[in-house]
Amino acid sequence: MEADLNKEKALLQRAFKYGLEYLEQVDSMPVIPQGDSLQLLMNFEEEKISETGVSPEAILKLLHISGAPNTVAQTGGRYFGFVNGATLPIGLAASIIADFWDQNSALEVMSPVVSRLEAITEKWLADLFGLPEDTAAGFVSGTSVASFCCLAAARYHLYNQKGWDIEAKGLYGAVPLRIVTGEDVHASVIKALHLLGFGSDHIVKIPCDAQGRVMPDQLPLLDDMTIVVLQAGNVNSGAFDPFKIICERAKSAGSWVHIDGAFGLWAAASSHFDKLTEGLSMADSWAVDAHKTLNAPYDSGILLCRNRKALLHAMAAQGDYIVHGNQRDGMYYTPEMSRRSRIIALWAILKFLGKAGLAALVDRLHNHALTLGSLLREMGYSVMNEIVFNQIMIRYQSDEKTMEVLRYIQSSGVLWCGPSRWKGEAVIRISICSWRTDDEDIRKAAETFQKAI
Ligand SMILES: *Cc1c(COP(=O)(O)O)cnc(C)c1O
Repeated sequence: MEADLNKEKALLQRAFKYGLEYLEQVDSMPVIPQGDSLQLLMNFEEEKISETGVSPEAILKLLHISGAPNTVAQTGGRYFGFVNGATLPIGLAASIIADFWDQNSALEVMSPVVSRLEAITEKWLADLFGLPEDTAAGFVSGTSVASFCCLAAARYHLYNQKGWDIEAKGLYGAVPLRIVTGEDVHASVIKALHLLGFGSDHIVKIPCDAQGRVMPDQLPLLDDMTIVVLQAGNVNSGAFDPFKIICERAKSAGSWVHIDGAFGLWAAASSHFDKLTEGLSMADSWAVDAHKTLNAPYDSGILLCRNRKALLHAMAAQGDYIVHGNQRDGMYYTPEMSRRSRIIALWAILKFLGKAGLAALVDRLHNHALTLGSLLREMGYSVMNEIVFNQIMIRYQSDEKTMEVLRYIQSSGVLWCGPSRWKGEAVIRISICSWRTDDEDIRKAAETFQKAI
């Protein structure tokens, strides 16, 4: 394997050509791979890894011919599954540059540009979300990891206040912390708590209202050994917990409040959602995904923490070979040392959109959800949630009929959305999350739902 710049350039040009072909086709291909195309996956089957290796051109061709048709068209306008988001062109373009650079984001000395962009974006995010000016940010793979880090900071802080050295002693013999959250808490929060050594028996789940919001009058008495976990954007209904009243109570009791805002925290960037996000800035930590509502390339999660010292303690790592920078060393804000430079695409998207562009993006997703929601209601679907953000939950007559509709929708290839259950009943869950979705996509989606019944 010898370096040959001309060969390298030709290979990259071919990759680029395939990528552009994909881009041209993504809006007309079936939103999820169907029947025949799945057969192409057989072309990847091999008993053993090749002895001699394969030419780069052949590999790219295999990916293009047999891989591309078996992707999910999530960068198109009619993928409404989960809360996945697409990729804004500037995000993809910046990400390509970042891939050429192949930076390691661990230390300033490994990449001055990454260190700088992380520091700048940290400030921008506090401003965009209306958080305290010195809020610390860490750039991780997703909200699951972001929540994990924030809860680790919470654990450090609350024990430290009591004079318990969690770094030296761990949880053995420690007075238990109590976790208070809604019964509709996202699975990723529970996973993070388990990873941190908090068992389910110490998690107090509060009843939620019909929209999935924590009911404040159901909260137990809070204290300074309690972590309260709230959410901005219920994964089914899109509902936001009543932050103000709960944060006020938590604050006076000395509890730590963490908010899982995987897709919903972005609402704080548009004044249209001021009522929903009221009091959100009073929390201690927040987790959010750039790869969802912001339409950044995967994987891009952000942790935000009011207490920088607690976060730095929780994420601390030492080694004689580590070279400390004068500026930001990213690894002290995340569990990983080596990380890809996801900050480059994130920074580029925020710079491109600006405050007004970001607010417009969030408003646009919401407005499409409102439009589709009312079209579906007119057709006879029951809309099961208040459409406060980008989520729509619908149902048609019975569990059986609802699932029949869903099967029709999923096999149509026109759009894709998935099932869920809401208060014991089957629902179809629609998430408007792609910047590319336009009025025509909403019309096509509505038409398909009409045909389904
Ligand atoms: C997506 C999501 C998560 C998990 O985020 P990942 O980026 O997939 O780790 C957590 N909470 C909510 C509300 C989500 O929508």
